[in-house]
Amino acid sequence: KLTIGVLELQGDFFEHERMLEKCGLAVKGIRQRRHFVDEHGLILVDGLVIPGGESTTIGKLLRELDMLDVIRAAVEAPFYLPVLGTCAGCILLARRIKNYDDQPRVGCLDIEVERNAYGPQIESFECHVQNERAFGTEPLRAVLIRAPVITEILDTSRVQVLASFRNSPIVVQEGNMLACTFHPELTGDARVHQRFVEIVKQYLVPERRLLC
Ligand code: GLN
Repeated sequence: KLTIGVLELQGDFFEHERMLEKCGLAVKGIRQRRHFVDEHGLILVDGLVIPGGESTTIGKLLRELDMLDVIRAAVEAPFYLPVLGTCAGCILLARRIKNYDDQPRVGCLDIEVERNAYGPQIESFECHVQNERAFGTEPLRAVLIRAPVITEILDTSRVQVLASFRNSPIVVQEGNMLACTFHPELTGDARVHQRFVEIVKQYLVPERRLLC
């Protein structure tokens, strides 16, 4: 069975875990470095979810727990561990953050984000599907909670826009990395998680062993 690590440092990881279980996956809560990688450098999960919450808090905890470098190494070439980042998780994956560019993060997804840029506390909208192979034709319902806006795609040859809202990308994919600015775990709609499962299957390898 595929095992997905869900970062349990802060934010709404519980809802992601229920959603992944509904998609038929095993879930492993990641609260410490040793939950993610063993003493021989073996990565213990087939994919990783970074949930929504507060990106500065999650980033600082990742750094304090000495997990930032190991997650980045697993996600980048040559290991390409699949990762799903939602809302704060999307910020933590972004290569560039407007006005907060020194914030600790994984930072390997070629987008620029602006934090809290949709404004209000909670908004719920429908967003347009750009890639019907990913989501079918039905619009996605998005719950935005002080969500970031993806303000720029830094490498258009690598980053695919899968859905957008008010002319801004709202779900993007760059190879093994999937990010969305909303909370797909809060609606009953499992399509973003299902897309992630497809990516996990596509990038599945017998083992990933970091040189550490
Ligand atoms: N505003 C939060 C941040 O900047 C993200 C909000 C969320 O994840 N719902 O980190």
